[in-house]
Amino acid sequence: MISKDKLSSKNRQELVDYIKKTNYDLVVIGGGVTGAGIALDAVTRGVSTLLIEKEDYASGTSSRSTKLIHGGLRYLKQLELGLVKETGQERAIVHNMAPHLTIPEKMLLPLTKTGSLGKTSTSIALKVYDFLADVEDSDKRKMLEMEQVLEMEPLLEGNTELVGGAIYAEYRTDDARLTIELIKKATLYGADCINYVAAKELSYNSDGFVDGLKLEDQISGETFDITAKVVVNATGPWGDIFRKKDKSLSERQLHLTKGVHLVVPWERLPVKQALYFDVPDGRMIFTIPRQKITYIGTTDTTYKGDVNRITANMEDAEYLIKAVNNMIPSSHLKIEDVVSTWAGLRPLIHQPGKSASEISRKDEMFESKSGMITIAGGKLTGFRKMAERVTDRVLVRLIEKTGNTFDRCSTENMKLEGNRFKKYSSVKKYIKELAEDLKELGYSKSDARYLIHNYGTQAEDILDRLKDKKRKYSLVGEEAVFCIKREMVQNLRDFYIRRTGRLYFDIGSIEPSKDEVLGVFQDYLGWDDAKSSEEWKSMEDEIGMVLEFKEEIVSS
Ligand code: FAD
Repeated sequence: MISKDKLSSKNRQELVDYIKKTNYDLVVIGGGVTGAGIALDAVTRGVSTLLIEKEDYASGTSSRSTKLIHGGLRYLKQLELGLVKETGQERAIVHNMAPHLTIPEKMLLPLTKTGSLGKTSTSIALKVYDFLADVEDSDKRKMLEMEQVLEMEPLLEGNTELVGGAIYAEYRTDDARLTIELIKKATLYGADCINYVAAKELSYNSDGFVDGLKLEDQISGETFDITAKVVVNATGPWGDIFRKKDKSLSERQLHLTKGVHLVVPWERLPVKQALYFDVPDGRMIFTIPRQKITYIGTTDTTYKGDVNRITANMEDAEYLIKAVNNMIPSSHLKIEDVVSTWAGLRPLIHQPGKSASEISRKDEMFESKSGMITIAGGKLTGFRKMAERVTDRVLVRLIEKTGNTFDRCSTENMKLEGNRFKKYSSVKKYIKELAEDLKELGYSKSDARYLIHNYGTQAEDILDRLKDKKRKYSLVGEEAVFCIKREMVQNLRDFYIRRTGRLYFDIGSIEPSKDEVLGVFQDYLGWDDAKSSEEWKSMEDEIGMVLEFKEEIVSS
């Protein structure tokens, strides 16, 4: 058995060496929320499981969503009642898994004279939604008069089209942190989950069944082969690459659509709460306040470019800015206000004749003649149910091959790490308590809120070290220590993007904290000056990429 702390960045090579020698029942390709959910479900049913991720966990779509655990109100418009029901129920389950990470967020739906949402139709739709999603009484929708809407969101004052509104409940999350907590939980149950290892080729036995993979360690460059009784392709937008390699790509191919989010300082769009409103072209977008910023999204356009480099362009930005100015004319939002962005790809399944935003978000499983199982489509919110379905299928294969028996799915009542809470009210109480402790150390309540929403009760680990007078790091430094010790952080990008969300929610904090954070990497991972400047350069490239479209303003 390998070292106790498998997700310590220091132990990565040991984990790679262990993986090389091990025969697995199941190998999951892809460390997004889908793959992480499958690894967790499978390992808890007694399946020996390896998950490989070619970059960092959640570096694909699972760090680039709207970051909502939601019941999918928009699917009601498309009459996908089954999907609304399932995601509605899953929403409650995911909230219970990690209430500190899935925070209740009321959505205000303003209704306008010329908008596509009428008062009666919205009221009926939300009622059906509450029923299908089994929404608790306190969270049930309320229709609002215009005065009530303006009281809740004074910024809408200047909208002369406003006729009323509605309020309903969703949850806000951090998609990357949710994925990482799933990886941690799966690891705790015995799965091996490694980042920066890419699947290169599939291998087959003499009967033509997939029996393993050729892998490449993206850090050392080393390639090696592993065996697996079952291979699951959970590579999201990359899914068809493996179906092609497996010669099993059918007509039901992926249709990738790009979704962009813009980030502006909260002061530039000081919404008191999240809004969900329609855009003149009939689509709907969100504006969501979070920490020091407000984010706006999303677009939905067919994408045929490089899957490994997805960025916002000027057209995306102008579309979103125009949509906000249309609903909130007093905001006078401009491209210049944008301080960060993120862009992701929805791995949807092509439906002939349907436009990007009309294609179903429902997941679909494909099993090829060679036995490779591919899972595509779906939502962050529905990851657990998708994982259950995929694992059920994996078990059919494993039982055929081994005759072994396996346990039933048990993720429904599982708690992720950092969750010692009964419900969200205990999270709020805990934030207050931690804020008192942090105050003595010179930090604010919003620091406490940030820490708990990111790490739950695992924040105690960070706090304990902060209290230790012998230590030299501040909060951000101790966070880096935590992420190196517990979350397989390999570089600054993993830390600033996927573990802490700073690139999106607090981009201004990166430059001032970089020397301290680099110091932590030097102390804990032995980086020298050359490695440190190489890694900082790579972080700077990433910062440049989220604001790349602004160069078009400068050069035009
Ligand atoms: P990914 O997260 O992309 O994971 C696939 C992984 O496979 C990647 O990390 C990739 O690096 C890895 N990989 C690829 N090739 C290889 C290889 N050769 N070897 C090893 N690893 C490999 N859902 C919601 O529920 N709520 C929302 O608010 C929401 N908003 C969204 C907004 C946008 C703009 C988008 C694009 C999606 C949104 N979704 C939302 C949907 C949700 O984000 C996705 O369904 C989900 O994140 C997909 O996860 P995944 O694991 O399937 O794919």
